[in-house]
Amino acid sequence: MTKMDKETLVAEIVKLKTELNAVILAHYYQLPEIQDVADILGDSLALSRRAAKTEADIIVFCGVNFMAETAAIVSPDKKVLIPQKNVGCYLADTITVDKLLEFKKKHPRAEVICYVNTTAAIKAESDICCTSSNSIKVVNSISPEKEIIFIPDKNLCDYTSKETNRDLICFQGACDTHTDIKIYDIEKILKNHPKAKIMAHPECNSDVLEIADYVGSTTGMLKYAKSSLEKEFIVATEIGIIHQLKQDNPDKEFYPLEEAICPTMKLITLESLYRCLKEQKYEVKVDEAIAQKARGAIERMLEI
Ligand code: SF4
Repeated sequence: MTKMDKETLVAEIVKLKTELNAVILAHYYQLPEIQDVADILGDSLALSRRAAKTEADIIVFCGVNFMAETAAIVSPDKKVLIPQKNVGCYLADTITVDKLLEFKKKHPRAEVICYVNTTAAIKAESDICCTSSNSIKVVNSISPEKEIIFIPDKNLCDYTSKETNRDLICFQGACDTHTDIKIYDIEKILKNHPKAKIMAHPECNSDVLEIADYVGSTTGMLKYAKSSLEKEFIVATEIGIIHQLKQDNPDKEFYPLEEAICPTMKLITLESLYRCLKEQKYEVKVDEAIAQKARGAIERMLEI
């Protein structure tokens, strides 16, 4: 492919998207130029739900594999494409089906709550799904007499356990990008911006969550920053969200943790997005038997 400049690439992407009746979804952690060309921006589950409601024939998911799989599960009648091969999620990859089955064997009467950051195969072995914004609601929907296994993120599990006052059996998975955010780095920013409010994602370590003024999902942070009268914010999550925060709040300042970069989220480029539409690759398919079981866990969450 001859190298195109950014403007031409964007124009070609828009042209192809229209011809194919495709919709481009992008997570807030994607590169700014990908977020700008997307039709729908959001967190993983919100994106899949929005995509399922569109009239598009093709969903192009600019995110990581488990997100594209979730889109394929909730939109079985659509073709789902991802612009790069093997766009894994470190957190989702911490748990395998074998490890989960072993866990279930030890706690045979427990309900299994899986964070949406899991593969389709893990969702299929779970009773109910949750996101970082509804984990408290999901736990509260389960009878207090029931044991609960919560997978795979230990920090989200601990946070949810504390907020619901329930003992949860936590799998010890974690996201490197979030656990690498250290209090020390936040304090360094605070020194120069003492009035800044701290927003933190629940995948961060508990000491970071303890000093945060707001703990919530990416969508939660966007709402908090927009509705707040404060003017400065330290953002303890993946750096990509800064783009949307700035667009929503041009009069406010956002200080990222410069090292908080998810390597796989940054693999998708305008070039790969263009190739994806042009060659209609890479298609993400989920085995129907697995998809059906996984859909059950997602639907149970959506009913709450
Ligand atoms: S930021 Fe962490 S949880 Fe999110 S996609 Fe990247 S590795 Fe996975």
